[in-house]
Amino acid sequence: MAQITLKNLAHSYKPNATADADFALKEMDHVWQDGGAYALLGSSGCGKSTLLNIISGLLRPSHGRVLFGDRDVTDAATAERNIAQVFQFPVVYDTMTVRDNLAFPLRNRGMEPDYIKARVNQIAAMIGMEEILNRKARGLTADAKQKISLGRGMVREDVNAILFDEPLTVIDPHMKFELRTQLKTLHREFGHTMIYVTHDQTEALTFADKVVVMYDGRVVQMGTPQELFERPGHSFVGYFIGSPGMNFFDATVAGHTATVLGETLALGASYAPPKGRVQIGIRPEFCVLGRSGGLPFSIRRVEDVGRHRIIRGTVAGANVNVTLPEGMEIDADANRVLFAPEKINVYADDWRVSPEGEEN
Ligand code: ADP
Ligand code: MG
Repeated sequence: MAQITLKNLAHSYKPNATADADFALKEMDHVWQDGGAYALLGSSGCGKSTLLNIISGLLRPSHGRVLFGDRDVTDAATAERNIAQVFQFPVVYDTMTVRDNLAFPLRNRGMEPDYIKARVNQIAAMIGMEEILNRKARGLTADAKQKISLGRGMVREDVNAILFDEPLTVIDPHMKFELRTQLKTLHREFGHTMIYVTHDQTEALTFADKVVVMYDGRVVQMGTPQELFERPGHSFVGYFIGSPGMNFFDATVAGHTATVLGETLALGASYAPPKGRVQIGIRPEFCVLGRSGGLPFSIRRVEDVGRHRIIRGTVAGANVNVTLPEGMEIDADANRVLFAPEKINVYADDWRVSPEGEEN
């Protein structure tokens, strides 16, 4: 196994691309640590599959290099890279039995029959297919076929990495949770580097130790779920992670204060006046309603979402959400929204600004 390094990597599907917009992946440097469990999270079209296919070798990048350890594999064929990849839709051999489908990658590598048998049984148990090992794949549901694809992706112990490209799309919701748990167990047991692509934040946050967030062909942040929640590095991370996402306000910021709509708000840290479009961001969980201080707020409606409630309202016509913890009453006369100063983040042109004295 090996660390995977992307060096000055960029990709355009167009020949002679020059403009930024021509690139499905903008230039990036990125390191995937050996043995990490990563989620690659972003909305449809942001470049997740492009990135995955470059790592596995299905696609040659138009710029930059791919390294496995110290070895440059940019021009190495997929087979040479020792990577298992599971795609969004099942790829199985219909005429083979479930057992033979699972055994295929091992037979290909000339493994011992006894080992193959034991390993296939182990994987079959993981994906709940012990009972149907001798059935032909033809005629199985899409769900079952995708489980075989997953199993085949996991069967080899000698791979550099396992890449999953939205593998649970066709799986029913109950089984999704089950399989995700299995993947985590597998990761803990075998320590393979795993990169799990998804557009679903719940999947990303439950699977991964580190979440890599992509937006418009760029990696905008890599961090633990907690880091992404507390310090979104880009406004997209603020919006995309959390439900509902972060609230943003245009502001001027200097020292320990932000000015929003002519009102002065305290910040938890001191900032040198940032350049560009300056905003403050605050998560709904760190907002409370009151009758003085903060910003003017009008309640539109209240949503019950199980354990807590979400107050949807507006500040100067713009939508703002406030999370109300379990058991807390709503003051019907509340007309201001207040922010916990130390939970406010500052953004300039969508990128988070570090406060003075923050270690990076
Ligand atoms: P994601 O997997 O995040 O949904 P993709 O990597 O598939 O995103 O696509 C990123 C961008 O590249 C999109 O704009 C998509 O239309 C474009 N793209 C993907 N595959 C091809 C291709 N084979 N040829 C041309 N453009 C492509
Ligand atoms: Mg994709």
